[in-house]
Amino acid sequence: METKIHVLPEELCNKIAAGEVVERPSSVVKELLENSLDAGASNILIELEAGGKRLIRITDNGCGMNRQDAFLSFERHATSKIRTDADLFALKTLGFRGEALASIASVSRLRLRTCDNDDGLGQQIYAEGGKIKKVDELGLPQGTVVEVRNLFFNLPARKKFLRKEQTELGHAADVVTKQAMANPTVSIRLKHNDRMMLDLRREKGVRERVAALLGRSVLHDLLPVDLQNENGLQLSGLISHPQLTRSATSHIYTFINGRYIRDRVVQHAVMDGYRHLLMKGRYPVVVLFIQIDPAQVDVNVHPTKHEVRFREQSMVHDFIAKSLQQTLRPAEWLGNTPDTRIENYSAEPRNQPVSSDSEIPADNSIRESSGHYSQYTDNQQDNYSSSESIEPQQDKFYNSLLRSVQRVDVEQYSLPGSEAEGFFTRLQILGQYHQSYILCQDSADLVLIDQHAAHERVGFEKLRHAYTIGTIPSQTLLFPEVLELDFNSATALGDNQHELENLGFEIEPFGGKSFALKAIPQLLGNRDAARLVVDVALELERIGRTGQLRESIDEILILMACHSVIRANQALEPVEIKALFKELDQIDFKANCPHGRPVMQRMTLIEVERLFRRK
Ligand code: ADP
Ligand code: MG
Repeated sequence: METKIHVLPEELCNKIAAGEVVERPSSVVKELLENSLDAGASNILIELEAGGKRLIRITDNGCGMNRQDAFLSFERHATSKIRTDADLFALKTLGFRGEALASIASVSRLRLRTCDNDDGLGQQIYAEGGKIKKVDELGLPQGTVVEVRNLFFNLPARKKFLRKEQTELGHAADVVTKQAMANPTVSIRLKHNDRMMLDLRREKGVRERVAALLGRSVLHDLLPVDLQNENGLQLSGLISHPQLTRSATSHIYTFINGRYIRDRVVQHAVMDGYRHLLMKGRYPVVVLFIQIDPAQVDVNVHPTKHEVRFREQSMVHDFIAKSLQQTLRPAEWLGNTPDTRIENYSAEPRNQPVSSDSEIPADNSIRESSGHYSQYTDNQQDNYSSSESIEPQQDKFYNSLLRSVQRVDVEQYSLPGSEAEGFFTRLQILGQYHQSYILCQDSADLVLIDQHAAHERVGFEKLRHAYTIGTIPSQTLLFPEVLELDFNSATALGDNQHELENLGFEIEPFGGKSFALKAIPQLLGNRDAARLVVDVALELERIGRTGQLRESIDEILILMACHSVIRANQALEPVEIKALFKELDQIDFKANCPHGRPVMQRMTLIEVERLFRRK
């Protein structure tokens, strides 16, 4: 009888397995780098050509392999790292499945050179599409060189999905960065087309390595964490003071037992640690190493091992969250006994406890809940967020803008009716002060105008007007920009394509999680457009779920206006000042005044005279 089911040939199996672990050059870099680290290398060189599409070569000085092992390493499910299923729960290595080399070999032209230095003789094996073609014995230094050429040469459909050189290089650099953080004592270099992109020498510890990777300047704003609990859970690393933030979660690096992970429970716990401390849409810089008994965590749940499963999820979550809270707000913890400290803290309103799979909020809702908690309202401000002086320059403007949405100050903002028409144009311009304020005279009064606030205000009003009448003018980009997005951003963009069009963005799906940005609102003048469209999409996604688009559209328009304005500390020519004033005159300040950072301040002659004790 003929059967419908048949066992696949090994070659095809390997290709299928490759599909799981080998998505693009960076996946190869990840697997090979892990192998070098597992081999105990102290020196690793990664060389790429054409973003890794043409060549990936990794050279290490690790333990190397003998002749037999070199052959075995090409076999699927051949590993030196585990023997029994019990070993799966006591993992000390990054690899354990024994399929990476076989998978990579099956979709490339691979040359392995390795020597374990027992007899000084090394092995060279060349394979094409997983088939061994040539074997040589030759003198080699101890260690291993794996060379992967023409990735996906035999899988054209896959190959088509590879992006341009720079994008692929970016992904690879990302992988290297993460591994480098977790292995500060290993010297790691990344070369691209013969240019050294990363040259990391051996460091004493994480702090120095983080400085080398993220820039020495961030160090000032990083607080050390080093704590452990009674269950043997250990937490160490660096977390940013709330004044140092990023617009995405991409600077949250978390590791479990030395393995980089991107886990929802951990991510949520980190954001919970920062609850109340960050502006909506802002994320910390975090490099956090979690050491846990390997029996307490299953890393074998995902092909890339980026997700894990904890045996005691809520214990891990709460420990991380509390440790971060404690590090970020030491003052609140002083003078209490250890026990009451914890209780005091738990008594606060908190995000939903994460205790079972169904309760783990998706990444988006993490964003949402943290956003919710960190939103500014006057009675909800805490020590950090109310202190303007500690906010970094770049966030200050945006923060005050958001704050102003909630603190309406009509008095300060509205202009006397008679002056509404042509008021600004009629001002006598005296000059610019500190490259930020325009000094003017209005009859006998001194008028100061915050150029920054004024520009932003004009931008916002223009956008809002255009949005109301249904046409935000957009400008087609000469070269569409391809956005490679993470899952959440891609979903947000896809879901809100229509609304984004109303806002002046034109985007088109570009395969997978990529989009082509083809047009942007004219007002933006190309500034940060890619970042902005993603921010806007995520904001739309967040609002979408609460069904309050109409009420929240101002916030989105503010976000956009924010990107379009002239920053402070910029010299303005008299013509530019006049143009700005003309635009200010076109805005109907009185009719709609939802947000109140003052654009203008006035000092009467009497007030000035009083300053000089003349009256
Ligand atoms: P895994 O890492 O899961 O064991 P791989 O397919 O990545 O599976 O590697 C198979 C085996 O080849 C490893 O278990 C290891 O013994 C050996 N190996 C791979 N790369 C290296 C290397 N750079 N140095 C020494 N041994 C290596
Ligand atoms: Mg491996």
